[in-house]
Amino acid sequence: MERGYRGRILMVDLQEGACREEEIPDEVYERYLSGTGLAARILFDRIPAGADPLGPDNILGLVSGLLTGTGSMFSGRWSVVAKSPLTGTWGDANCGGTFSPALKHCGYDGIFFRGISPKPVYLLVENRKAELRDAADLWGKDTIETEAILIDRHSRRRQAKVACIGPAGEKLSLISGVSNDRGRMAARSGLGAVMGSKRLKAVVCTGVLRIGAFDREGIRRLSKKCSKFVLAPVPFVSGKGAAVMGKIMAKLPVNMAMDGILMKAVTRKWGTCAMNQMSVQMGDSPLLNWKGSSEDWTIERSSSVNPDLIVSREKVKYHCYSCPMGCGGICTMTGKFSETHKPEYETTLALGGLCLNDDPESIFYLNEILNRAGMDTISAGGTVAFAIECYERGVLTKEDMGGLELTWGNSKAIVALVEKMIAREGIGDLLADGSKRAAERLGRSSIDWAIQAGGQELPMHDGRNDPLFSLHYSVDPSPGRHTTGAFLYYDLYQLWKEVKGLPKVSLISRKDRRYVVDDEKAAMGAAMSQFKRVIDGAGMCLFGGTLGISRVPLFKWLNAATGWHKTPEEYLEIGARIQTVMQAFNVKQGVEPKDMKISERAIGRPALTEGPNRGRTYDLETMMSKYWERFGWDPQTGKPTDQTMEKLGIGR
Ligand code: SF4
Repeated sequence: MERGYRGRILMVDLQEGACREEEIPDEVYERYLSGTGLAARILFDRIPAGADPLGPDNILGLVSGLLTGTGSMFSGRWSVVAKSPLTGTWGDANCGGTFSPALKHCGYDGIFFRGISPKPVYLLVENRKAELRDAADLWGKDTIETEAILIDRHSRRRQAKVACIGPAGEKLSLISGVSNDRGRMAARSGLGAVMGSKRLKAVVCTGVLRIGAFDREGIRRLSKKCSKFVLAPVPFVSGKGAAVMGKIMAKLPVNMAMDGILMKAVTRKWGTCAMNQMSVQMGDSPLLNWKGSSEDWTIERSSSVNPDLIVSREKVKYHCYSCPMGCGGICTMTGKFSETHKPEYETTLALGGLCLNDDPESIFYLNEILNRAGMDTISAGGTVAFAIECYERGVLTKEDMGGLELTWGNSKAIVALVEKMIAREGIGDLLADGSKRAAERLGRSSIDWAIQAGGQELPMHDGRNDPLFSLHYSVDPSPGRHTTGAFLYYDLYQLWKEVKGLPKVSLISRKDRRYVVDDEKAAMGAAMSQFKRVIDGAGMCLFGGTLGISRVPLFKWLNAATGWHKTPEEYLEIGARIQTVMQAFNVKQGVEPKDMKISERAIGRPALTEGPNRGRTYDLETMMSKYWERFGWDPQTGKPTDQTMEKLGIGR
């Protein structure tokens, strides 16, 4: 019977050069789904305690999603997984593009690598056949060059799809990622370095095997309805109007619950760059290495990255596989490169507002060179902002910087510094492993200016504006991630419409209530983590989820693909199991969950004196404790209890 998933993975031993298929029993999918859920179970069982993330015992996985290829919308996301060398925790990095269906067309739900190859190699996979090939001629090439060579070399009936690392991963930068589709990055957790440590340059998929599903017609009906919602036009204001809206929202004493209709409108029109100015004005964007406010980055100053200006450079829209929304775009550039993926909001703020850089050309250029190098733009921007503050405070000197005047907003110096980080040259060698590692070497209180969770630079959403962002940065098994939970997401998911017992949000709520720690927020936080685990097991895009569960029917698609009859509550229980096995992975690896808490500055300690977040701080520690308790983990330590492990049938 066809169930959406393949029921099979490929295990590659790079030391021995051997590839071996493994059948995965149906019950594993019923308990963990596919994607990162399946991967969490495999890595928890097989990576020994205390494994060196860059050593032979670490296992690197590339996984698709259960719904990928079944005809469900928004289901083309794939993930890279391993023990993270950046945080020492469970590491995953999620990515769009076209690699996920290609992996499944080869006959596998995931490909896992252990060991270290004696020489650079790439894996060529086609219809359940795989072989390692020499990559000597590719080593040193950037992601886009590598992909082009391998597509040219291996495309036959269908274009080959390639996931690869660039020079950053080869040089073991702890903030490097894995790329597909000319610079779409699985950027977080430093997993490019794991791939580089294994001397694995790329994975090339050329398969054409059909992907089955239990009820294709049912999926088609659901997808048709979903597409109709996504494609229905919604009028919306201009980019400048969005900024003004953000300013008004910051001044109101109340929050208005966001709805997926609004999300759809802005995401389709602009993509994430819709937030470039609006988020600054409402207090969502951290500025000046988290010590500034919208007073430092006024509407006038940030107008150089106004969403309308960014989109005016879009020569064609970009859709990931099976996505009706198409939040991406390919933009034109002048100079060394002719085009680049449209810079995401995260990229623009990390390399822009966080460093007070208002030069859009430098942001487009940095976006492209970081994508080519295979380096995470969020961590790169966070590390540059940290370095600027070190320079401002005299911990780094002009001599240390190789002559660069690394002042706020000096775009030439910022570009030159990122180039050094990519090349691991001079001060760039220290910074290529992120801000926390650099601070540990620089000393002199600089750790206070490395704004991170567990060693990973924080994304561009300020928990002083939405404290549930901070909660998830601190409690996610892969710390410092903005894609798991926030009040914003809870409003948008509208899970209470389908999952019994979850708190319902009202259209208007008092802002100050957000900072009060209570059981309701723990329930919201836990539900979002569980839901995100289901999203990643299905291979769905988070932006699909933000349109609302009744419009993007994830649970119904899963039942139609598999023939299961699971309730929404049962799917959230699967999410709890996956979350718990990821946390158990961390505990097995010696991680203390409470040490993953975000930097004090990001919690408002000390509080800002200007801007929308002035005076705001909150009791994050109690929030974390309540969240852990909600999962049945020890509320003091954050470690899953034996009873919870047993209840979820995980085993040690
Ligand atoms: S909404 Fe954007 S990121 Fe998500 S699948 Fe579509 S194009 Fe990709």
